[in-house]
Amino acid sequence: MENMRRVLVTGAGRGIGKAIAQQLGKDGFEVTLHYRNSADGVNEAINNIKQNQGKAYALSFDVCDRENSRRILEEDIEKNGPYYGVVCNAGITADAAFPMMSSEDWDSVIDTNLTGFFNVVHPCIMPMIAAHKGGRVIAISSVSGIIGNRGQVNYSASKAGLIGAVKALAVEVGKRGITVNAIAPGLIETDMALLDETVKKEILKLIPLKRMGQVQEVASLASYLMSDNAAYITRQVISIDGGMQ
Ligand code: NDP
Repeated sequence: MENMRRVLVTGAGRGIGKAIAQQLGKDGFEVTLHYRNSADGVNEAINNIKQNQGKAYALSFDVCDRENSRRILEEDIEKNGPYYGVVCNAGITADAAFPMMSSEDWDSVIDTNLTGFFNVVHPCIMPMIAAHKGGRVIAISSVSGIIGNRGQVNYSASKAGLIGAVKALAVEVGKRGITVNAIAPGLIETDMALLDETVKKEILKLIPLKRMGQVQEVASLASYLMSDNAAYITRQVISIDGGMQ
């Protein structure tokens, strides 16, 4: 147990993040489950991991609060050791047609989805490098960052920004054996993708597999990227979207 690799999953109290955290716990990682509001979800996930003899605990901060994020992560790393893996999953939408999009909608989405990557990964990366044990950074981007979605100029920009960040960071840290990749989910059944039936029907027309994705399917991909088997995969954007056109 002492030499378990530590991994951090942001936004682990619900949705995709919770599924990834629970899967990584099953895979034998020591998991830090980050949350902002979803303490109950995190506690439930931690109990599940512990029931399977895994090791897990919670950490709470707002990924938009740079100072607090850094302080809490630095203290955590100082006390418990460097992270082997970081999954940047926390994210929001604030959709509106661009002419109607408020500056608050723009700022909140960029701050959470893109600047949140800096606020979380930056404090973790030097200790990861210094540990000389390789590592993994996984950003949860979106199909929206690849194709650009109507009503999501802010969200698409933030998720495309993450892809750029991942590609550049992969070049910088590759020689340290650290891989950096993005996962680009399509429509996954979570709170974020609660759609009315008419909209859902229209979107399903664009998905050859004719269904929404499940959180466990994204978790399985994250689990693979975190594993030793994925050691030669870096600087990639891997879509998991049912073939969305
Ligand atoms: P949910 O809305 O279910 O969960 C969002 C998560 O982000 C929550 O855990 C929430 O934490 C966390 N979060 C949001 N803002 C902050 C913040 N400021 N500080 C800390 N944590 C924050 O979304 P999903 O599970 O669906 O999405 C997870 C990721 O996957 C997101 O990045 C999303 O953009 C991406 N994605 C989702 C798709 C989908 O169809 N569902 C498709 C493509 C990408 P808390 O509850 O504790 O506040």
